[in-house]
Amino acid sequence: MLDIKITKTTHPKPLPDPNTLVFGKTFSDHMFLMDYDEGQGWHNPRIVPYGPLPFELSCMVFHYAQEIFEGMKAYRTAQGKVQLFRPVENARRLNSSCRRMCIPELQENDFVDAVNALVSVDKAWVPSQPGTSLYIRPFIIATDNGLGVHASKRYLFAIICSPVGTYYPEGINPVKIYVENEDVRAVRGGTGYTKCGGNYAASIRAGERAVQQGYSQVLWLDGVHRKYVEEVGAMNVFFKVGGKVITPELSGSVLPGITRKSCLELLRDWGIPVEERLVTAQELFDAAQGGTLEEAWGTGTAAVVSPIGCLAWGEKNAAISDGRIGRLTQRLYDTLTGIQWGTEPDPYGWVLPIE
Ligand SMILES: *Cc1c(COP(=O)(O)O)cnc(C)c1O
Repeated sequence: MLDIKITKTTHPKPLPDPNTLVFGKTFSDHMFLMDYDEGQGWHNPRIVPYGPLPFELSCMVFHYAQEIFEGMKAYRTAQGKVQLFRPVENARRLNSSCRRMCIPELQENDFVDAVNALVSVDKAWVPSQPGTSLYIRPFIIATDNGLGVHASKRYLFAIICSPVGTYYPEGINPVKIYVENEDVRAVRGGTGYTKCGGNYAASIRAGERAVQQGYSQVLWLDGVHRKYVEEVGAMNVFFKVGGKVITPELSGSVLPGITRKSCLELLRDWGIPVEERLVTAQELFDAAQGGTLEEAWGTGTAAVVSPIGCLAWGEKNAAISDGRIGRLTQRLYDTLTGIQWGTEPDPYGWVLPIE
């Protein structure tokens, strides 16, 4: 058990209008902080009023990006209760990212306790309108000062929370995606399977170019052969081809999404054939031409599922599901959101209520 010292704000902010929330712009009243120093381990867990912290400009994270994060949500049920979705999975993934980035790991329980305690203090910030939630951003940064390149001896683990509106205010509209041939997001042996800021820095240019050209995001190809599909933007990707569901295997350059894992578990439970394997862009465009590319969608905590209505690859175009959300995509969306917001039973034990 973490012994968390709680200092509440004397100036609570007014709660934002749940109808005009912009993702990641408003933050709740409190934040969780915990320090790490070599020889001392993780210590001084505390919840304090949300606000700025002073850092020297030589702080290592600003220069060499020794940084990792997580993304998860707290959901309010129709009965007014607040719950998390598979938080232990986030704890495990954070530790996997820690190992790759030479950051000291956290106890899984301590991570879940910290998230729980913060959400509990800021419970009023979990909005109740349908589709809204409290986005939770745990992260760890290297805080040693100095420009030498080595693992930091000091770290800060922090959690901040931001109320978010419904991802689909105008209903779910399938997006247009193009296959990125120039930039790559990650390569095997690199950091693709971790949630680190550096992966995002490297991916911004492709995303900007996609938007300039009228697409929502890019479909990433593997960095070695430039042939195998990996992810769509910052989401995992699934295809339904000839009645079977195919998703890229976790090859080292693909992020192991918790929504991905949950979709695979649901599909297997429903008796739908699923394959985790290498998938080439060529295979997908051949299937589209042969009329067997039935559905395609991205998965992630923010959108849950995001249907793909159109894929472009150079001069080639593939329309999917007549530009509508596919039936299986819809079923996954309804089941996952039903469990998350507590309108459906939770037979898998995925939900953790907050006291
Ligand atoms: C976070 C993330 C995902 C989705 O993971 P979830 O756990 O489902 O939210 C997929 N791809 C990338 C690159 C990510 O950073």
